[in-house]
Amino acid sequence: MGERRRSWAEPYKIKMVEPIRMTTREAREAAIQEAGYNSFLLRSEDVYIDLLTDSGTSAMSDRQWGKLMVGDEAYAGARSFYRLVDAVHDIYGYEELIPTHQGRGAEHILSQLLISEGDFVPGNMYFTTTRYHQEAAGGTFVDVIVDEAHDPTSLFPWKGNVDLDKLKALVDEVGADRIPYISVETNVNMAGGQPMSMANLRATHEYCSSVGIPVMLDATRALENAFFIQQGEEGYADRPIAEILREICSYSEGATVSSKKDNLVNIGGFLAVRDEDLARRARAMLVAFEGLHTYGGMAGRDMEALAEGIREMVDTDDHVRARVGQVQYLGGKLIDAGIPIIRPVGGHGVFLDAAAILPHIPQDEFPAAALTAALYVDSGVRGMERGIVSAGRDRATGDHHRPKLELVRLTIPRRVYTQAHMDVTAESVIEVFEHRDQVGGLRFTYEPDELRFFQARFEPV
Ligand SMILES: *Cc1c(COP(=O)(O)O)cnc(C)c1O
Repeated sequence: MGERRRSWAEPYKIKMVEPIRMTTREAREAAIQEAGYNSFLLRSEDVYIDLLTDSGTSAMSDRQWGKLMVGDEAYAGARSFYRLVDAVHDIYGYEELIPTHQGRGAEHILSQLLISEGDFVPGNMYFTTTRYHQEAAGGTFVDVIVDEAHDPTSLFPWKGNVDLDKLKALVDEVGADRIPYISVETNVNMAGGQPMSMANLRATHEYCSSVGIPVMLDATRALENAFFIQQGEEGYADRPIAEILREICSYSEGATVSSKKDNLVNIGGFLAVRDEDLARRARAMLVAFEGLHTYGGMAGRDMEALAEGIREMVDTDDHVRARVGQVQYLGGKLIDAGIPIIRPVGGHGVFLDAAAILPHIPQDEFPAAALTAALYVDSGVRGMERGIVSAGRDRATGDHHRPKLELVRLTIPRRVYTQAHMDVTAESVIEVFEHRDQVGGLRFTYEPDELRFFQARFEPV
C-alpha cells in the first residue's frame, strides 16, 4: 500500500455540531399534509435527514469561517473581490469574473446577453433554471444528450455526453447562426449526476469551434465530473483533480457556476468568461440586476469564503474522493437491496427510479412526488421529486412535458452527514419499497405557472 487510504473516509474531523431531531410518524403525516405533499414546502425543523438538495447545504471549514471575519465590505473595489477573481482564474482558468448571488443570476445574464427571440440553445439535458432563462430570453432548448442518459438501466459510464450527431442535425436544420451557444453541463444533474468524458467534451468543442458556436459550460459540478474522469477515463488516473478541472474548462469560452455546490459555500455563484467585450456587457447587466461589478450579488465576506472554498475543493484529491465516495456508499447499499435506482450511481446523489418502484401509479399522478412523500412519512428523510412535476408544461401546447424518467433524488450535502445517516436512509428506502403497494398517486390542488415544483400543492388521489 502506498499513500492511498483504503476507504473514502472523511478527510476532516468534526468541530461543531447542529442537533437534529427524530419525529413521530403521526407528526410527519400531519407535516406532509400541511405541506401539500410537496417536500419543498416542509419546514426543515420537521426533517430528520435532509437530502432535498446539496445546494448551499455544505459545511464550511474552519478556514472558511475564519475568512468571514476578513471580508472587505467596501462598495467598490473590495479586496475580497480580487481574491475571488484570483481563485477563479487559478482554479478554473477564466480571466473575467462576474459575481452573482447564485447560479441562476449568472444564467439570467448570460441568456439575456446571447440569446435572441427564435434562437435555439442545444444542451446535454436541461437544468430547470437554466432552461427557464433560455426560454425567457426567447430561445428554444434542444436536448442533445446521448440516448443512454434517458435509460435508467444503461450502465454507460458517460451518460452526460453530448450526442454529436444530434447536435450536427440541429445545426444542419436551423443553421449555426440561430445557435448563440451550446450549453454544456458537467456531471448532468437531471440525468442523475452523470459525467461526460473529456474526449466527448474535447470533440464537442472542436466541432463547435469549426462552425463558430461558443461552448458555455454549466461548470457547477465540474469538480465531481473531474473525479469521474480521473477514475474512469484512460490517461487520467495519475492526473491531479485540479489539473483535470482546468482541462475541462479549457474546452469552453465561459461558464456559469452555482457556488452552492462544488465550491463549498452556502450562497454565491458567478459567470466567468474569456472575452473582455462579453464581460463588459455582462457587467452592465450585473449592475441592473445584481449589484456593482466588484460584488454583484455577494457580500465581501461571502466572496472570501467562496475564494477559500474554490481552492479547498481541489487542494488535495481527498475531498472529492470522500464526497463522491459517500454517495457511492449509499447507492451501493440500495443496489445490494435490489432497489431500482439510476445506474451508474452519480456524483451528488442517489436517484430512485419511481416509475419502476411504483408501476401502479400513472405518470399523471406523479409517482416520484408520491414516493418522496412516502419516504418522508416513513423516516423523516426528505428527498426531491425530479419527474413530471419538475419538467413543467410545454408553453405551446399547455400539456405536461413528459420526461422519460420519474426520479426521487436523495442528494447528499457535502461534509454534513455521516455513514450512519446513510445507513438510516437506506433502511427507510428499503422499508418503503417493501410496502410500495400501499403508496398511492397524487393530484394538484394548486399548480403554479412557472417552475411549478417549488410551490405546487397536492392531495392523495
Ligand atoms: C444548482 C444548479 C444550478 C442553479 O444554481 P442556483 O445557485 O441554484 O441558482 C444550475 N445548474 C446546475 C447544474 C445546478 O446544479
